[in-house]
Amino acid sequence: AKRQGRNRYAYFAPSMHSGLLEKLDLADELRGAVERQDLLVYYQPFVDLSDGTLVGAEALVRWPHPTKGFVPPDRFIPLAEESGLILPLGYAVLDTACRQAAEWAALRPGLKISVNLSPRQVQDPAVVLYVQQTLARSGLPPHLLTLEITESLLREDAEVAQHRLGELKALGVQLAVDDFGTGYSSLSRLHDFPIDILKIPKPFVDGVAEGAERSALARAILDLAAALGLEVVAEGIEHPEQAHELHRLGCPVGQGFHFSRPVAAPDFGALLTAAAPA
Ligand code: C2E
Ligand code: CA
Ligand code: CA
Repeated sequence: AKRQGRNRYAYFAPSMHSGLLEKLDLADELRGAVERQDLLVYYQPFVDLSDGTLVGAEALVRWPHPTKGFVPPDRFIPLAEESGLILPLGYAVLDTACRQAAEWAALRPGLKISVNLSPRQVQDPAVVLYVQQTLARSGLPPHLLTLEITESLLREDAEVAQHRLGELKALGVQLAVDDFGTGYSSLSRLHDFPIDILKIPKPFVDGVAEGAERSALARAILDLAAALGLEVVAEGIEHPEQAHELHRLGCPVGQGFHFSRPVAAPDFGALLTAAAPA
């Protein structure tokens, strides 16, 4: 047993070491990719659950790595947050998404765009001016832009966040809470934050068509949103039964692979013209 233990140590130590080096390498490469503007923005449709109409899109960053293929955001967003790279990265995504959305809004008036805002960006005092200037440069009407924030910002002690979200809200944009109900937040303080939209997370959507118990959490968010006068978007819809059941429960808008995966801008443009309402 002892020898086995030693072998295990000998086996794991080098791999942990190379894991760390790989992470440092990746952070370095990410810096280069941000500087060279190699990152892409993909768009995933928001759909009206009553009739399937395209009503908007969420901008999702993509990193086409020269040898590794597309690196998933779940791997490099945390690295970007640790290193501070999330600021230039996030602003590049915002800029691209707003210019793109302004073009699409000309084809389809009222089409909305959602952009993810990392907690680090909300802490950055420059974020307000940046969003304002990006909107002005792009010509996108502010009410068509939604900023998706994480639930952890809605904490009891989050005075900076509360102040900043108020400033952003004053620009005329909408604020959505991503993955609502999966993190720590203070429900009693939901009133104190200028939130417009709650996003029902995929894990709550997964069981929505499988009976009262498995749909309880999605229903709780829909009830809460109705009571507070908030809009709702359900994400991670993969099956038609889920879309149907969410609509039946009163959820107006959905997003998920059932409707479309995130796609490159030209492909989203094609969806938009193909599905143009009469
Ligand atoms: P998120 O904001 O919750 O975005 C939704 C994620 O769920 C996306 O993953 C999307 O591709 C995926 N998704 C959508 N529909 C379905 C579905 O039906 N089934 C399944 N299995 N997945 C679905 P993605 O693009 O890999 O992004 C992962 C996370 O990375 C995002 O989660 C977000 O937290 C972060 N992220 C992505 N782009 C940005 C960005 O520009 N800025 C920041 N700060 N974070 C970003
Ligand atoms: Ca999001
Ligand atoms: Ca989400």
